[in-house]
Amino acid sequence: MGMLATQQLTDFLSVVADRPDGPAAQHAAVECAVRALGAEVAVLVIEGHVAATIGVPADQVRPAVLTEVAAGRRSLLHLGGTAYAVTGAALGGQAPGALVVGRTGADFTDEDVCLLRGMALVLELSLQALHVIESERRQARENGRLADSLQERQRLFEHLTRIQRLIARRAPLQQILDAITAGAAELLDLEMASLNLLEKDDPSVGSMVSSVGFAPEVLAKMKRIPLPSAGVAGLAVLGDELIMVEDYANSPIAIPEVVRSRLKAVMAIPVHENGTVVGCLTVGTYTGPREWDKPAQEILRAFAEHVSLALTDARTLEAMNEAFHDSLTGLASRALFQARMDRAFATAEQEDAGVAMLFVDLDRFKVVNDSLGHAAGDKLLVLTAERIKKCLRSADMAARLGGDEFAVLLPLVQGLEEAVPVARRILEAMREPFDLNGKEAFISCSVGVAHSVARGHDGQELMVSADLAMYQAKKQGKDRYEIFEPAMQAVFQAGLQMEADLRRAVVRHEFELRYQPIVHLKTGEITGLEALVRWQHPERGIIPPLDFIPLAEETGMIVPIGEWVLREACRQAARWNERRDGKPLSVSVNMSAVQLEQADLPEVVASALSNSGLPATSLVIELTESLLVDHRPSTLRQLEQIKSLGVRLAIDDFGTGYSSLAYLRRFPIDIIKIDKSFVDDVGDVPAAAALTLGIIQLGQALHLSTIAEGIEDAEQLSELTDGNCELGQGYYFAEPLNDVDMGELLFPPS
Ligand code: C2E
Ligand code: MG
Ligand code: MG
Repeated sequence: MGMLATQQLTDFLSVVADRPDGPAAQHAAVECAVRALGAEVAVLVIEGHVAATIGVPADQVRPAVLTEVAAGRRSLLHLGGTAYAVTGAALGGQAPGALVVGRTGADFTDEDVCLLRGMALVLELSLQALHVIESERRQARENGRLADSLQERQRLFEHLTRIQRLIARRAPLQQILDAITAGAAELLDLEMASLNLLEKDDPSVGSMVSSVGFAPEVLAKMKRIPLPSAGVAGLAVLGDELIMVEDYANSPIAIPEVVRSRLKAVMAIPVHENGTVVGCLTVGTYTGPREWDKPAQEILRAFAEHVSLALTDARTLEAMNEAFHDSLTGLASRALFQARMDRAFATAEQEDAGVAMLFVDLDRFKVVNDSLGHAAGDKLLVLTAERIKKCLRSADMAARLGGDEFAVLLPLVQGLEEAVPVARRILEAMREPFDLNGKEAFISCSVGVAHSVARGHDGQELMVSADLAMYQAKKQGKDRYEIFEPAMQAVFQAGLQMEADLRRAVVRHEFELRYQPIVHLKTGEITGLEALVRWQHPERGIIPPLDFIPLAEETGMIVPIGEWVLREACRQAARWNERRDGKPLSVSVNMSAVQLEQADLPEVVASALSNSGLPATSLVIELTESLLVDHRPSTLRQLEQIKSLGVRLAIDDFGTGYSSLAYLRRFPIDIIKIDKSFVDDVGDVPAAAALTLGIIQLGQALHLSTIAEGIEDAEQLSELTDGNCELGQGYYFAEPLNDVDMGELLFPPS
């Protein structure tokens, strides 16, 4: 977009600068702005009056409202009965005003606003130059010196236009500044001109960045001078005003070295960057004292304003470059990618072709980042960028959209058959091992591919499609590519619907608990219950937890849901325990990783216990192995705090994760729940039976109780009992029951 904006600004400049007078330039400006920004209407207000319009009659515009738009206080405007998204830029200088554009389509982007501001500045300066010419023309007509003056003004205009072109073409800043000092000296027919800028890290020092007409020995002394002693230039900067000295040698503010150089008269004017004084432009003569007349002052002012324009523009370019490139990988940023995409669509439409894009997401970036550290993570991203670039043709563009997300734009392609090989090459390239600061790592990526004909479609749509396809590639097992299909949209939409439903469910409390008894295997006595959540969906009926917990975890909604489960389970268990004689029942509650990340979880648990009156020793919190394996540094602390309340911890689905043993020792666990998959085979597969017995013995050795999950038949029960498994649960004893049925099971009516 940087180059595109520059091109548009150059076009604007040459069109506006070519006009013979103010009104013609104003009209050209609105025309040009409409075209460059894809707007339908444009209005230029100067000194409170509508100066030019496009797309709307001048009498339907209220100038005051436009000033509000230019000040950024309005972005929507009704003009001639139509609502427009609008943006504007203020014109300063001698004829203040505003340039506003509007369109019925999409809102204006930050880049549009930037471009419009550049146009307003160019217009302001051009009008100013034209104004000088015009007033001079008028004056000249009066005093009959028409020919001479006009010629001089024409020269000024030509000079300024040349400088503006340099700025718009992004010539090196030094070249522009040199053109300004040389131009000012030449036009004013003076021998000396210099530009001093305040130093960034010490604004009390001015350094001369460009000059003409200083003898080398003077120049060396003047290169850097503290501002308060900088004579005329210092005064101009400190007072932010034009300073004129007509007889330098006899002036109290003269600098001795400069007097010795026989400078006779000087004039200095401050230069600004975004409105603040950053230095000054000084001109002078060695020929003799000189009176500085109005035209001379105006010429100097015009050159000073061009310094400001050049500086502001250079900083804008710097800022734009920063905004448009990812500093880590050097790839294009999302903003630049989107702009290129829009351009690709425009070109493809003309050529009757299409555009393709790939959405690339690393598969295990978080793991690398967490286990090898951020430096390694950064290195991986840089290497990934390099590998992706190697897979592209010269017309293609890669970008880093953020995090571990990359994108590739393939402009002007006829179909998917051109995009798929690129996806394959990237997948292949990513499978090679990475050297991350001496450590070898294997990473893969998932790629979404989408292609669209240009006509009637846009970049935004294509991005969404490629993203959906990537999401699908992840779901299909990662390290692969998927091509976008419209059906993915439907699946995604269904997911969104589900999310909306789930939000509503949280607000309306559409959840219920089921309780499954946990039984002492030798005696058959019920010693505890596991609370299992259900979603009572108003249209879809009961939804089991595995169908909505993952989404609840992804969206964070598991936090309120889980808290409700905890409080409700404690409350119900306490009530049942009140009616029970003998040993109190314990209640087990499942807990997600997301809940453990909440800093206040220990307090929530404590409050659920105290509100319900359930003793902490009767509460068991079930955690999955994966939670412990991928744990955060804070997890252990959280668990210890919860344990210190007296609550017990269980590992759920034990045996399905990895490196279980290490975690058993590291975390303060009390109970192992043997996963149903082991129990399933315990009766008929000898190896499974051996494994299960092994887990039970391990539990005993570590003084942990063991609960076998999913016991469905008598044979499994007897194997487990023989193996000394202490507790069990499963359909063999009871399915998860609602509170009424559970109440009846616990307290059979006699
Ligand atoms: P889990 O904690 O391992 O719970 C045991 C699951 O096995 C339950 O499924 C239970 O109904 C089922 N089950 C018990 N005995 C048998 C059996 O003999 N045969 C068979 N085929 N299945 C049996 P459910 O209720 O569908 O829950 C599934 C998972 O959802 C739970 O697995 C747990 O991880 C999660 N979950 C349930 N409630 C909550 C909750 O409140 N919070 C969180 N974070 N997760 C929950
Ligand atoms: Mg469980
Ligand atoms: Mg389980």
